[in-house]
Amino acid sequence: MRFLPKVDQVLNSLKEDAPHIFKLKAARLAIAEARENILLGKIKDISKEELKEIVLLKAENYLHKFKQPSLRRVINATGVIVHTNLGRSLLPKEAIDNMIEVSTSYSNLEYNLEAGKRGIRYSHVVELLCELTGAEDALVVNNNAAAVLISLETLAKGKEVIVSRGELVEIGGSFRIPDVMAKSGAILREVGTTNRTHLKDYKNAINQETAMLLKVHQSNYKILGFTKAVDMEELVELAKKHGLYVMEDLGSGNFIDFSKFGLEYEPTVQEVVKNGVDVVTFSGDKMLGGPQAGIILGKKDIIEKIKTNPLNRAVRIDKLTLATLESVLRIYLEPEEAIRRIPTLNMICLEFDEIKRRARRLSRRLKKVIPEFLDLKITETTSRVGGGALPICPLKSLAVSISYKKAPNSSQIPSSVSELEERLRHTTPPIITRIEEESLLFDVRTLLDRDYVDIARIFEDIFNV
Ligand SMILES: *Cc1c(COP(=O)(O)O)cnc(C)c1O
Repeated sequence: MRFLPKVDQVLNSLKEDAPHIFKLKAARLAIAEARENILLGKIKDISKEELKEIVLLKAENYLHKFKQPSLRRVINATGVIVHTNLGRSLLPKEAIDNMIEVSTSYSNLEYNLEAGKRGIRYSHVVELLCELTGAEDALVVNNNAAAVLISLETLAKGKEVIVSRGELVEIGGSFRIPDVMAKSGAILREVGTTNRTHLKDYKNAINQETAMLLKVHQSNYKILGFTKAVDMEELVELAKKHGLYVMEDLGSGNFIDFSKFGLEYEPTVQEVVKNGVDVVTFSGDKMLGGPQAGIILGKKDIIEKIKTNPLNRAVRIDKLTLATLESVLRIYLEPEEAIRRIPTLNMICLEFDEIKRRARRLSRRLKKVIPEFLDLKITETTSRVGGGALPICPLKSLAVSISYKKAPNSSQIPSSVSELEERLRHTTPPIITRIEEESLLFDVRTLLDRDYVDIARIFEDIFNV
């Protein structure tokens, strides 16, 4: 214990340039850890110099960690395209360019240049959204959860909203339809059963207190077998007859029919709007491939009501998001371009030949740097759209698969697939992979051009110690 260096000694020996507060924290943590290890008997019989070396190395490791931003780039080798934990959709470069331009200068965010006076924040995307979807009017808010909340609060507070029991969804991260409904002040009226809901179930539940019929996209699950759900057309007709609102929470919301690319058919936003629904909401950063946002489309008078709800100020969209959303929507004016230039769409629609090329490219690079106790091969795997879209629709993909032929003889090197998986989460950048049947999989569908060099370098660092 007497050999433990003082905080000042560690501080003076730290070579890396960093804010004093980080150095201090690193020094204290390293000393505390060494003290703990001495007490546990993990450090013993060493000289003062050796102990100082150990503490210093620890402190430098901590410092290195503190200096990195907490929110940073990772490599997504999971094959899940809209991965909510990994930031959902990647933005096209032009969207970022526009954001930089708009946010490093003043902008006409709420300034009408023609009139020379106050303008409307939403004006920058409303026309585009209407042109792309055929909707009468539009509003954008912070995210789809907010879009659902504000729509319900505006149209159904204190009144009943009828929802099928098969659609009482929970999306990860505590978005649950019954809870959002409760927060909005609307009263949930469940009808039907888990697997089957008929038009007459909705019809029988309508009473004096009913304000709305709500349809919710099942998003992250699917009920298979003996099932029945009511079509939007029928719900719209029923709602009209009784003077009720009819709303759909689409969840993901796609402008492009991906069944042309071998995916399961999902109605597009345009089709949903055409069905005559009063309000439809969806996320900006799921299958649309834009920034986090909640998009609300609907009839003019209804959107106007939602827009003037005081809650709108609390959930309003910021200018960085608006700038990127406008850019992404502009790309959609040419659908072919959208598939080419919007990363989420591009990854969904990747041709298998391109996937093959990528798998060979990664395999070639890794073969040069992996040790002989590892086995590397290319295997078939399934990617997912993710983000609560097309939950069981498999996307045929390829992965570079790594497994252990035998354990390495150095203790510095990860000695199992699970140790390797863990180590890869701590590299710069971290690599997020998937383990399947004792193999570590790198699904190439979600890899970006720049990732290949990094993955090879990281493997070299880990195994050529
Ligand atoms: C994802 C999803 C939401 C929440 O959207 P966020 O943009 O994450 O707030 C709400 N409803 C459904 C059906 C969803 O799939």
